[in-house]
Amino acid sequence: MHCPFCKATDTKVIDSRLVAEGNQVRRRRECLSCKERFTTFESAELVMPRVVKQDGTHQPFDEIKLNRSFTKALEKRPVSIEAIESAINKIKHRLRATGEREIKSLVIGEEVMQELQGLDEVAYVRFASVYRSFQDVNEFKETIDRLSRADEAVQTNEKS
Ligand SMILES: [Zn+2]
Repeated sequence: MHCPFCKATDTKVIDSRLVAEGNQVRRRRECLSCKERFTTFESAELVMPRVVKQDGTHQPFDEIKLNRSFTKALEKRPVSIEAIESAINKIKHRLRATGEREIKSLVIGEEVMQELQGLDEVAYVRFASVYRSFQDVNEFKETIDRLSRADEAVQTNEKS
C-alpha cells in the first residue's frame, strides 16, 4: 500500500501479529522512500447484522455479550468452553446466513435458547426464566409449561 506520508508505492512489512483474539492482523510497515513507519489493521469483513432492540434502537452485534449470556446460564454446569464457543459460532453463522442487515434482539435470544436447550436443560430453564420475564410474561409461562410437560427429568435435576 502507498505510504501515507510521501505516497511512495513501496512499503515493507516489518512486523506482523494477530490481535483482537486472532480476528485482526496488525502490521507495522516502513516506507522504503521516507523511512516513516505506520500501522495497518487487516480483518475479514464480517457482515454480522446489526441488532435492533425491543425499543427500536440499533446496536452493533456484540459477541462478548452473547458469550456472557451463555456463561451466566451455564455457571457451574458441566459444559465445556469449547461447547460454548461452538454454540456461539453456530449462532453467528446462522445470523450471517440470513443475509439480513438487521436482526431483532429477540431472534438472538431465541437462538441462545435453542443452543442452550441442546447443551444443558438446566441452563436453558435458567436463561428462559430471566430472558422471558423481560420479554413477555405469558410467553415465559408457556415455555415453562411446555418444559415441565416435555421433560420431567429436568425438574428433578434442578431440585437435586
Ligand atoms: Zn514514505
